[in-house]
Amino acid sequence: MSEAVGAEQLVYGPVPSRRLGRSLGVDLVPLRTCTYDCVYCQLGRTTLKTVRRQRWVDPSDAVAQVRARLESEPDVIALAGSGEPTLHAGIGDVIAGIKQLTSVPVAVITNGSLLGRPAVRRGLADADIVLPSLDAPDDGLFQLINRPHRTLRFDDVVDGIIAFRKSYRGQVWLEVMLLAGVTGILAEVERLAELAARTAPARIQLNTAVRPPAESFVAPVSAGSLQAFARLFTPNAEVIADTAPSGADRVAGRADILALLSRRPCTVADIAAGLGIHHGEALKAATALVAEGALELHTHEDRSFYVAASATAENREKERS
Ligand code: SF4
Repeated sequence: MSEAVGAEQLVYGPVPSRRLGRSLGVDLVPLRTCTYDCVYCQLGRTTLKTVRRQRWVDPSDAVAQVRARLESEPDVIALAGSGEPTLHAGIGDVIAGIKQLTSVPVAVITNGSLLGRPAVRRGLADADIVLPSLDAPDDGLFQLINRPHRTLRFDDVVDGIIAFRKSYRGQVWLEVMLLAGVTGILAEVERLAELAARTAPARIQLNTAVRPPAESFVAPVSAGSLQAFARLFTPNAEVIADTAPSGADRVAGRADILALLSRRPCTVADIAAGLGIHHGEALKAATALVAEGALELHTHEDRSFYVAASATAENREKERS
């Protein structure tokens, strides 16, 4: 194991989720621990690529931290964040513990790569929504886009999603990430649509690389193309909007902003919406954190994103080695 998630900070947000509204995030694995190393990942490159499930953190710590943040009134509690959550062998215990606390829906955002394993399917059984990904129509593009752990087979991953959907009583929302010039072209979208239909999800959601990606050659598909491609899916796909409604009235501190930014690059509007603070307050706090070197400002597709300086430093170090 390269780094442990500190028990002091497993829960973050609520953050503005493009799919779920104000989402209270729960991190169950160390930062950038995943079965994939996607070229579009907003966390940067994967630092620990593994398929070995472990109890990375104590489930009771995660549940206690969720309890402490319920007053933030999230729309959903999402097991997601710093890596692939199904790599936690006790994910079922975390879900069960949260369900005892609250009726707020529990969602699991997963790349879907381990859904072929019966133990993973059992662990997710009590979640309300499971959101797996399907980014490639064949093994060649799977290798190119997702850069999976060497033991993962494309056909097994697809079969795993299908097996999960058949046994699961909650809702499966399939996310399809389209990349310009790679899968964001008609012939590949048609193949993806065929494959997505085989998995028969309740909803299909089209996404593209709107945030700074792990690899600089990744580019987003235009909004117009996404809308046109959405009609090729059955059921018709939804194009996921980029931001969520802004909120409320709590005062976010430096630690809240850094915790949010260490998980995903955010615009000022994202910070304001996710932490429920005024736009001006978010801008002032982010500007101060840039001045002290804790954040960096990056531009991607003409939009400005704040990124935790620790995350970019780690990426640069990895590129050098
Ligand atoms: S995008 Fe998701 S699945 Fe891909 S490397 Fe990042 S955390 Fe893993």
